[in-house]
Amino acid sequence: MKDIIIAIDGYSSCGKSTFAKAIAAALGYTFIDSGAMYRAVTLYALRHGLVAGDGRVLERQLVATLPRIDIRLAYSPERGASDVFLNGENVSEELRLTPVAGHVSRVSELAEVRRRMVAMQQEMGRRKAIVMDGRDIGTVVFPQAELKIFMTAAPEIRAMRRYQELLAKGASATLEEIERSVRQRDETDENRAVSPLRKAPDAVLLDNSHLSVGEQLAWVMQRIRQKQEEI
Ligand code: C5P
Repeated sequence: MKDIIIAIDGYSSCGKSTFAKAIAAALGYTFIDSGAMYRAVTLYALRHGLVAGDGRVLERQLVATLPRIDIRLAYSPERGASDVFLNGENVSEELRLTPVAGHVSRVSELAEVRRRMVAMQQEMGRRKAIVMDGRDIGTVVFPQAELKIFMTAAPEIRAMRRYQELLAKGASATLEEIERSVRQRDETDENRAVSPLRKAPDAVLLDNSHLSVGEQLAWVMQRIRQKQEEI
């Protein structure tokens, strides 16, 4: 079977990474969580005082320090996922917490940040056999991807999923707080000037509000086989 690129885009907290990870495991492909890369830049900005008290990102200073931000993804067999290293430090857990989640949309609006992340992502896909999830993978990073999926689910269902994920990790947050953050991120991601969240015209829509991971996997495997037969 020919190796392909699978691009998965969609709203925050609709299970893109879980889904992408499951597809990658089934095919023996590499899974890349592009959101983790934007989160890592955000963590760096927060740690280095590059986010003002009102949430504004100090763009000029952040862009100037971008060459000093080294982001690496390394597959961890114990976690069944990629660990994210920011300048050599494993920050995978911290990337999921509220401060980063609250500021990441503002950081990922910056054209120069996007330019750098997209270049890294395209390099990662040079040999195909990858599943990458994000917001602009099918539209900007890999417009030539053989299979594009656009995922969505009702905002209250997405907030509940994120809430349960955080509770399981022992983090404290209220459901209302999370739902507000989910809606806010949708709004910023859809309305930003650079690479807004959009369904590529040739992407297939997957609303997983009421689907299990197993059901989604069965659905996508059929499409993957079809694509591989076509090419
Ligand atoms: O997917 P995840 O929720 O981890 O993404 C965090 C944020 O990173 C998104 O809300 C979005 O602002 C940004 N992002 C992006 N482009 C991507 C992936 C993520 O702008 N390809």
